[in-house]
Amino acid sequence: MDKIKLIEQIKQLKGEDTLILAHTYQPPEIIDAADITGDSFALSVAASKTQAKRVIMCGVRFMAETVKILSPEKQVILAAPQATCPMADQISPERVRKFKEENPDIPVVVYINTNSALKAECDVCVTSSSAVKIVSQLPQKDILFIPDQNLGAWVQKKLPDKNIILWDGFCPIHSKMTASDVLSAKAEHPKAKLAMHPECPAEALQYADVIGSTKAIIDFALSTDEPVILGTERGVADYLIEKYPEKQFYHLCPDRLICPDMKMTTLDGLLECVKGNGGEEIVLDPQTSEKAAVCIDNMLKYGG
Ligand code: SF4
Repeated sequence: MDKIKLIEQIKQLKGEDTLILAHTYQPPEIIDAADITGDSFALSVAASKTQAKRVIMCGVRFMAETVKILSPEKQVILAAPQATCPMADQISPERVRKFKEENPDIPVVVYINTNSALKAECDVCVTSSSAVKIVSQLPQKDILFIPDQNLGAWVQKKLPDKNIILWDGFCPIHSKMTASDVLSAKAEHPKAKLAMHPECPAEALQYADVIGSTKAIIDFALSTDEPVILGTERGVADYLIEKYPEKQFYHLCPDRLICPDMKMTTLDGLLECVKGNGGEEIVLDPQTSEKAAVCIDNMLKYGG
């Protein structure tokens, strides 16, 4: 069956009680089949404000977990059960527990791109758009920021009065970007502005005109009349190029800025989820879920 017919079938069969969420890095046809598209936390909040009884997440596992934490009463299905974020599992909860035993006065700030068991051990969650604001509002000078060392280094640069302790986590996709990749793209498109995600390393970010979350990158790209090189997972550029053919958008390293886990959702798989046969229902240990919810609530408390 062709893609348009599959999308029609998904929309017809899903019913009013089911909400389909798609992260911005998903393939364009999955975005077209979804009810809501956006960053992971925005999707979780949006889902929590609906009456939907069943939520199908087209994304990776930690995103479905965050939906479940914010909406424990809803049935949450991860459309592609094998889709995980490699960064989400890079730091073990035990390592954080040990750090906190040895450093009880240092708050642990955790990026939203982590599994619920890790969030449950941390003090406050952040997104890429709220990290600087939240860390700036913490009273302590010393802060452990996990897992993404590139995002943490960017926050440190913005907040020189803080002492941000970084560990060895990273996004295996964004961290591949080098200064030479960026300079080549700028040489190819000399009139274009460069918008980059802070999960990229500092050596590449130093040449960016705009640094921000996926939403911030999209907002900037749509607000300017100038050409833009999109320095984040290629799904963002693929979608913008298709939807706004009148604008000049360019990929940065399209062959390497691909997250394989984000491409695991298929229309056939989504159709099976809608029929009640596919995907995996997210079930969280209640204690872990409650502790992770406190970590996320603290993000909201600090204005994230
Ligand atoms: S792009 Fe990076 S941070 Fe995002 S899901 Fe893929 S591996 Fe994880």
